[in-house]
Amino acid sequence: MTSQLLDIHHHGATAPLLDIHHHGATAPSNAVTSFTLGEPMPAGDGLLSAGIHPWSTETFNDNALADLEHLITGNTRIVAIGETGLDMLRGASVERQMEIFRAHIELSEQLRMPLVIHSVHATDRLLQLHKLMHPSQHWVIHGFRSKPAEAQQLVRHGIYLSFGARFNPDALAAVPPQFILAETDESPLTIDEIIRRLAPVADSDLIAANTAAFLAPV
Ligand SMILES: [Zn+2]
Repeated sequence: MTSQLLDIHHHGATAPLLDIHHHGATAPSNAVTSFTLGEPMPAGDGLLSAGIHPWSTETFNDNALADLEHLITGNTRIVAIGETGLDMLRGASVERQMEIFRAHIELSEQLRMPLVIHSVHATDRLLQLHKLMHPSQHWVIHGFRSKPAEAQQLVRHGIYLSFGARFNPDALAAVPPQFILAETDESPLTIDEIIRRLAPVADSDLIAANTAAFLAPV
């Protein structure tokens, strides 16, 4: 087993996955690149995550959810659902966003894929849905910038938190290490530069292990 692993690294064929949430026209091999239904699928052979971004919730009708399911089931590069979620400052009404988010949760459970979540001023509503639906699949709040108390509240429900270029250092320190993920999102920084900002709480070995655990089928 060890020699096989060494062999993979030697050939450089599989860079460890470190970046749970990236945007770009090309999908890097160490990232999960997110795109919204209707956008061009990122090029390359990197892994993908597809969903309806909360900011785009006004533009889609219910047929879009069927389109999303077809897109996800028809492409083996898609390994996660999202980004999806709730944004109290942008997008459709709260009721409509909740409806679309719920559909993503159902899809995540049905297809056994993790969920990548955008949440702005919506932690209470998100936790209500989590309690109501008892999901078995992994959830991550991407771009987590809130305070320690909110971080602890989310991880108590088994929800991962992903940290990017900007975050609250006290919140990072308050999260049990196994729930920490990292992301570039739209930052010009590389994922290695971002992970360096997480020191001494997290390093690339921890992030690689957590990312693999997050993406592993439940
Ligand atoms: Zn994003």
